[in-house]
Amino acid sequence: MIFPPFHIPKEIRRIAVRLREAGKDTYVVGGALRDHFLGRSHGNDIDLASSAEPGTIMGLFPRVVPTGIKHGTVTILAGPYQVEVTTLRKEEGYSDGRRPDRVEYVDDIVEDLGRRDFTMNAMAYEIISGRFYDPFQGREDIRKRLIRCVGDPSLRFAEDGLRPLRAVRFASQLGFSIEAGTLAAIPAAKQVFEKVSPERMREEFLKILLSPSPSSGLRLLEDTGLLSILLPELAPARGCLQKGLHKFDVLDHLYFSADASPPEAALRLAALFHDAGKPEAKAEGPDGTPTFHGHETISSRIAKAAMKRLRFPNDLIDEVGHLISQHMFNYDETWTDAAVRRLVSRVGRPALPGLLALRRADAAATLGTSPDPRSTESLESRISEVLGRDSALGLKDLAVDGDDLAELGIARGPAMGRILKELLETVLDDPEQNTRDRLLDIAAKVRAKHGA
Ligand code: ATP
Ligand code: MG
Repeated sequence: MIFPPFHIPKEIRRIAVRLREAGKDTYVVGGALRDHFLGRSHGNDIDLASSAEPGTIMGLFPRVVPTGIKHGTVTILAGPYQVEVTTLRKEEGYSDGRRPDRVEYVDDIVEDLGRRDFTMNAMAYEIISGRFYDPFQGREDIRKRLIRCVGDPSLRFAEDGLRPLRAVRFASQLGFSIEAGTLAAIPAAKQVFEKVSPERMREEFLKILLSPSPSSGLRLLEDTGLLSILLPELAPARGCLQKGLHKFDVLDHLYFSADASPPEAALRLAALFHDAGKPEAKAEGPDGTPTFHGHETISSRIAKAAMKRLRFPNDLIDEVGHLISQHMFNYDETWTDAAVRRLVSRVGRPALPGLLALRRADAAATLGTSPDPRSTESLESRISEVLGRDSALGLKDLAVDGDDLAELGIARGPAMGRILKELLETVLDDPEQNTRDRLLDIAAKVRAKHGA
């Protein structure tokens, strides 16, 4: 038995009882057990290990998905839980630094724990007997808040190049340190890390980005050399100095912006990349101070390319690219309502909260202090005023549409597109113009002018 007592949800206990009837053991392993000792919740994701083979498990439970059957993993759906059950195994011969050449099922839990990455992840709790297995003193390392490889770090990293990145991810997520020997072995693991699939890199990178202080993980990545492989496009930002209000070089500014963003993937990614194009855009102004004209476009392109390489989903890539490309505007109280409407129209309603969050994070990371809330509050209230007035902010809000213009004899295609845009400009400037008669009148005039 362990202390503090480990509460096993009834759905999970039922799985263990079933497997026990079949003569098999069932162990809680991985994050759920680690987080139990940390007093943290682990949500509904519980990893189990069992001496039962995948085929046996598939036969015993009605709702099982063969998620990784080749590597001995199946997922049992049990109430709110998605339970990954991995058959006890040892792995041999990692000739490619990614996957073991051979997986052999074993009966001994201690042998299974020996193939796991870190001591804090190499503990097991057998559900029916209540026996606790901790052959590598994982609990002691948790107490010391240390991430330590099971066995020789260099050998373990050579087997699977993802492990160094996982070490940094756990350090960032849990606020732990990486034990000296484990940390020292990371730089030499770069070559194996390079071979890791982009999808696996992405999952760990996202967890770093969503951790309480992503900058601590990003700095560890930079210091150990992993960042140059994961995100080579950020390298020029180190040492790229800015003048004026900026206290930090571009890369530190990006790290701090990520820290200051709400923990949502799109926002943290946008924060991390929003000025990545500054080194490329850098030029010298007439008075010798640096300028960065157009850096938002370059940054957006850089972010999209990096995310594409890491196989992020396309809608997230577009969202992040859009936020970054729109982050440069200099709002002040002299802005007219028309200017506010134009901003809303350009950014689009759904992206507005994200853009404002990005601006707040950017402001916070410029001086390294909390931003003056007035920096965005005033714009926010102006935006809600404009939205509240129900003015036309997009082509679909216009009092006329393509069919109306076609009736005027305007050909569909780019010319019509240009006229609709011009009508929208007019209405953004002056919402009173948004009536069918006025717009048809203006359209006819524009057409005459351009001979459309
Ligand atoms: P979380 O679920 O919070 O991300 P976790 O520790 O459960 O953390 P998983 O990726 O779910 O991480 O893996 C479950 C367990 O499998 C780990 O705790 C570890 O014991 C083992 N493991 C996962 N990935 C590796 C790896 N690359 N090398 C060795 N063991 C691993
Ligand atoms: Mg897990």
